[in-house]
Amino acid sequence: MAQTDELVIAIDGPSGAGKSSTARGVAVRLGLDYLDTGAMYRAMSWACMTGGVDMTIEGAMIERARGAELRMGLDPADPRVVVDGRDITAAIREPVIAEHVSSVARVIPIRELLTDQMRSIIAGSGRIVAEGRDVTTVVWPQAQLRLLMVADPAARIARREAELAGAAGHERVVSSIVDRDRKDSAVSRFEAPAEGVRLLDTTHLGLGEVIDEVVAMIPEQRS
Ligand code: C5P
Repeated sequence: MAQTDELVIAIDGPSGAGKSSTARGVAVRLGLDYLDTGAMYRAMSWACMTGGVDMTIEGAMIERARGAELRMGLDPADPRVVVDGRDITAAIREPVIAEHVSSVARVIPIRELLTDQMRSIIAGSGRIVAEGRDVTTVVWPQAQLRLLMVADPAARIARREAELAGAAGHERVVSSIVDRDRKDSAVSRFEAPAEGVRLLDTTHLGLGEVIDEVVAMIPEQRS
């Protein structure tokens, strides 16, 4: 496989479907870059929340987002997120960020700003696994492999609980998954695969099996 061949793998799906672990695992296995587009929305949410921005005023959120200098690390083994020189990799995983991120993600000018940044990152890399809600449909529909990863809500809740290791109670995890699905689906359509997007149901699969399936779906590269 010639290293110069472009290979973009786009993975979308709801929270807890296993996108991040899968995307990172595939990227590590194949030596590709990794882009977590959800982390970019979380970073903007963090910037607004810590900047004292009123999350009900769109203009204030847009101004803060435009002024924030976002840097995304693309190493799948250690994807760092930096805003205005501050490493916020851990901070954006706090449940309070997940609770507010949809308010930021529904603001169209912020989506446009981040979508432009995502496209330059993907174009600059050329060999990357990018995951989110609208990567297969809006950000990079020309990807060599486009996947919609889904799982039953119960499986997604169990995975998120394991990930948070008790940092949030059961009710909070359930509402975070269910509420976020509802809010996010108002902005991006990711319940059903768009044309040309393959569906992968991970409900009964372990991480290793999902990674194997994704790698097996990658179209043969020109050499
Ligand atoms: O994937 P993750 O749960 O980190 O995404 C956080 C939030 O970012 C989602 O709930 C959604 O509101 C937003 N998002 C989006 N479009 C993407 C990726 C994430 O709107 N491509």
